[in-house]
Amino acid sequence: MPVRRLCLVLGDQLSFDLASLADLDPQRDAVLMVEVMEEATYVAHHPQKIALIFSAMRHFAQALQERGIIVQYVALDDPLNTGSVPTELQRWHASLQAEEVHATECGDWRLEHSIRECGLPLVWHSDTRFLCSREEFAKWASGKIQLRMEFFYREMRRKQRLLLNSDGTPVGGAWNFDADNRKALPKKVSAPYPARFAPDAITRDVLELVRERFASHYGSLDNFDYPVTHEDAQALWQYFLDYGLAAFGDYQDAMAMDEPFLFHARISAALNIGLLDLRQLCSDVESAYWSGGVALNAAEGFIRQLIGWREYVRGVYWLKMPDYADGNSFGNTRALPEFYWTGQTKMNCMSQAIGQSLEHAYAHHIQRLMVTGNFALLAGIAPKEICEWYLAIYMDAFDWVELPNTLGMVMHADGGYLGSKPYCASGQYIKRMSDYCGSCAYKVKESTTEDACPFNSLYWHFVMRHSNLLRGNQRMSMVYKNLDRMTEAKQDALWQRGESLLSKLDAGEAI
Ligand code: FAD
Ligand code: SF4
Repeated sequence: MPVRRLCLVLGDQLSFDLASLADLDPQRDAVLMVEVMEEATYVAHHPQKIALIFSAMRHFAQALQERGIIVQYVALDDPLNTGSVPTELQRWHASLQAEEVHATECGDWRLEHSIRECGLPLVWHSDTRFLCSREEFAKWASGKIQLRMEFFYREMRRKQRLLLNSDGTPVGGAWNFDADNRKALPKKVSAPYPARFAPDAITRDVLELVRERFASHYGSLDNFDYPVTHEDAQALWQYFLDYGLAAFGDYQDAMAMDEPFLFHARISAALNIGLLDLRQLCSDVESAYWSGGVALNAAEGFIRQLIGWREYVRGVYWLKMPDYADGNSFGNTRALPEFYWTGQTKMNCMSQAIGQSLEHAYAHHIQRLMVTGNFALLAGIAPKEICEWYLAIYMDAFDWVELPNTLGMVMHADGGYLGSKPYCASGQYIKRMSDYCGSCAYKVKESTTEDACPFNSLYWHFVMRHSNLLRGNQRMSMVYKNLDRMTEAKQDALWQRGESLLSKLDAGEAI
């Protein structure tokens, strides 16, 4: 019998309340879920990321079936699998003689475009798992030359009525307590290792498949311990509420040797694929504050990341795609150094951040922004190459969130549309926020000697080489004042040291 609706559920849409599943009639409708080579290989995703998505998809399909829903599930190694989402949709639309195909907005412009073009009777649903729809964001951004996250965030706080007094003013008298979230980690503080989840039979099968099919992708598949079901994702979240949130505020920006997670929640991948619910997370954090369990800077800081940054970058992505992906306002052309894929560099901060990314498909925000991202910005790496790296290497990376964070926030390649100034910093910042420098082959106090920290000279090289674009930026005025105070000889020495490091990168040498 022909089906009425064929409902597509993608690998990052594993939510029971997904818009395209609403009003589903188990007697007349069917769900389609497909593991396809095209999505697994359009960049060389970290094997743990592929394993997470396939395993979570298989568990979700099983959970839907237990609710009496018909699921057409196409595994990667199914001999009839045609290899892409649009061709599988066409195949199943024809074979089930479906009257309509229902889909929820995708997380990737490329995929959504290809589905829209595939000639089927599609009914699109807004992705209601986010707080701000694409249309609402476009309305907010309309007429603004530059956007600022802070103002968007305040709107979201008001809309969600989070951490507000009864008169609508922010609790604590300010919207943002970021200044209280930058403490370096004291020596005696150690972080709880996050909850770990042993692979079950479904996950073990998937790990085997991924090991066989994606052996050439960078990153380790050993020690896969990530939640793949709603229940386990909830346990990961509860673990963070119990052991991480209270210290999250103070040490949000801190980094430490061999401490990949510190007090971070490690929930981004589970949230992005639909195993956790954003509104519930915010409400739990707010309750933890009202009950006196955590301080305001922790609760506000966490909520800001979720309803501020996360929603804001998604809004920018859909407003500006597809042209956004071509942004390159500094005209960078340098290739991504090989050590991004191996971690083999003498720079201890880079080797720590890259090493743990290869091992866990995870790095926390400041490592991504101020270590690997900062280096790419200072070294003038081509935006497309560094964006591809972030998209490939992190378990939580989907185009809507990775691209604006990398191209906009890190590389400032959108000309300052997303952020008002580049997040460029010398080695001093890394020294202040971590214990990396003490075990590094380079000296963070030096700038121009052979053993000087590369971040120092590359920082000033960046500032000098983009003087025409950045000198007029008010938020960079102190930096240019400091540059102007330097003697010409000092400026020359910094420039020469920067040039020498960049030539090494161009020659394919590790530094
Ligand atoms: P926590 O530090 O515990 O933060 C809590 C949550 O806030 C995160 O889980 C995440 O959902 C949200 N969040 C925090 N900052 C951001 C942000 N800037 N944008 C969006 N959400 C945010 N996050 C992704 O989910 N996917 C990506 O592909 C991604 N790429 C990034 C690339 C770069 C260059 C940078 C600088 C940041 C990127 N982020 C990305 C944001 C952030 O680094 C991760 O969300 C965070 O590190 C995930 O770890 P966590 O769950 O332990 O987060
Ligand atoms: Fe990184 Fe420089 Fe510190 Fe080494 S000295 S860890 S390169 S900031």
